[in-house]
Amino acid sequence: MTEEKPFKFAFDWNCSCGGCSVAILDINEAILLVHEKSTIYFWPCALDGKVADVEAMEDNFLDVAFINGSINNDDQLHRARLLRAKSKFVVAFGSCAHLGGIPALANVTNRAEIEQEYYVDSVSLEPGSTTIPGPSSTSNVDNVELTLPNFYDSVRALDQVIPVDFYLPGCPPQPPQIVNAVLAIFDGTIAGVPKGTVLGPDKSLCDECPRERQEKHVGQIYRPYEIEPDAERCLLEQGLLCVGPATRAGCEAACISANMSCRGCNGPVPGVEDQAAKMIGALGSILDAETDEELDAMLEQIVDPLGTFNRFSLSKSMLFRTVLPADREDVRDWDF
Ligand code: SF4
Repeated sequence: MTEEKPFKFAFDWNCSCGGCSVAILDINEAILLVHEKSTIYFWPCALDGKVADVEAMEDNFLDVAFINGSINNDDQLHRARLLRAKSKFVVAFGSCAHLGGIPALANVTNRAEIEQEYYVDSVSLEPGSTTIPGPSSTSNVDNVELTLPNFYDSVRALDQVIPVDFYLPGCPPQPPQIVNAVLAIFDGTIAGVPKGTVLGPDKSLCDECPRERQEKHVGQIYRPYEIEPDAERCLLEQGLLCVGPATRAGCEAACISANMSCRGCNGPVPGVEDQAAKMIGALGSILDAETDEELDAMLEQIVDPLGTFNRFSLSKSMLFRTVLPADREDVRDWDF
């Protein structure tokens, strides 16, 4: 008989790219410790467990469910609620679960517009087809009844649909962050961490960035392909929109080390509700504009403000979405 291991884990993914699942394997030899100490009961990306297996578990059977991805359909909502009921702790794993992530940029539109774009206006595999997949449809092969998850108007972060105990930020979370969280679970110290904690340093990325800052003002904003920045100096001071001042540290400045601006995937700095508002405030203090006209001209250089400042955090921003579904003015009190 197989010896029972001390911990029971589940890993699930919702609306995400799959990078968070790969990040788990990126912890290298620490995965052997995970194997030694825990049994993984559910991991659709890597194991053949079924949702029905989870449904059959007693409540709180699992010690920890690590859930990545945001929520944008009813299948994801069902699994999130299920894993919440079956787990002592739920960890929102990665930017999409933490803040909505890149998928939340879909909140600039709605279900009807997305379906129109992709199934009617775009080139179809079946020329002339304007069929929009629905929750239930009949296949033109053998008249088989097909079902699909019901697709929601809005993309939500995990804690907008279930209570979350801890957050592991990042796109994806970096291996040292994952290992530290797993070790805290194994040695029991996680029990002393306040619920709702983001597992990362309580400082901004600028605080751990090795680049030299000269407190200079910025007179011109550039897109990344327009200049080759000095590798030693602050990227923001060179006119590149680095979101480091508004972003929590913990990634060891990985993008900065590659001479790329921070895009904000670790989420807002502690105490800040809206990452975009914080960044706009930081930018306002360094833009070199004397008049309203000069300021307007500089702001025009920011090609995609929402996608730049809310790239990973639109679901949890004060904005939440920019276009209300035509028939849903109560979208903030969404009842599914
Ligand atoms: Fe580093 Fe970016 Fe902060 Fe400049 S703005 S110090 S490049 S993290």
